[in-house]
Amino acid sequence: MKKAIFLDRDGTINVDIGYEFSLEKCKLLPGVIEGLKLLEKYYVFFIVTNQSGIGLGYYPHETFVEFNECVLEKLGAQDIKILKTYCCPHAKEEKCDCRKPNKKFVLEAREEFNVDLKNSWVIGDHPSDVLLGINAGCRTVYLLTGHGASHLDDIKEKNIRVTIIAENFLTAAKEILKRNNGE
Ligand SMILES: [Mg+2]
Ligand SMILES: [Zn+2]
Repeated sequence: MKKAIFLDRDGTINVDIGYEFSLEKCKLLPGVIEGLKLLEKYYVFFIVTNQSGIGLGYYPHETFVEFNECVLEKLGAQDIKILKTYCCPHAKEEKCDCRKPNKKFVLEAREEFNVDLKNSWVIGDHPSDVLLGINAGCRTVYLLTGHGASHLDDIKEKNIRVTIIAENFLTAAKEILKRNNGE
């Protein structure tokens, strides 16, 4: 079985630019490449992203794909491979079963790639990322990059049991490795 890291995208890997996608604004966050390099010895990577802007009509699915390819290329240029990107295109009001914190995509990845969820992690900058990890039986990192700092009160007030709170991606990667069982 493989161990995996399920990565949120905006605010976790790349700078969160809201609904206004443009390729010039496609930038990786500091420490992401270094962090992923540390983790790739033990983990495979997936992206799981909520893109309600598609469902709300703010941007078309193609714009999402284009921007995502830009992110994947920047990672690929450093030999970082994302096995698959899972995107929920629905607005919250549609009450779909794929929007985080629903675990549908993580379960799909488990089936398709034989992932050991108990020894896998979800990393993100939003409480819904942490809740996804909890729902799927993974461990979790809450990042203070992106929206993380502004939602930290939510995590505390709702008493969401996050495994690690990290200042940035590189710190997160190091903390994950401390808890890795070495296989
Ligand atoms: Mg995010
Ligand atoms: Zn959905």
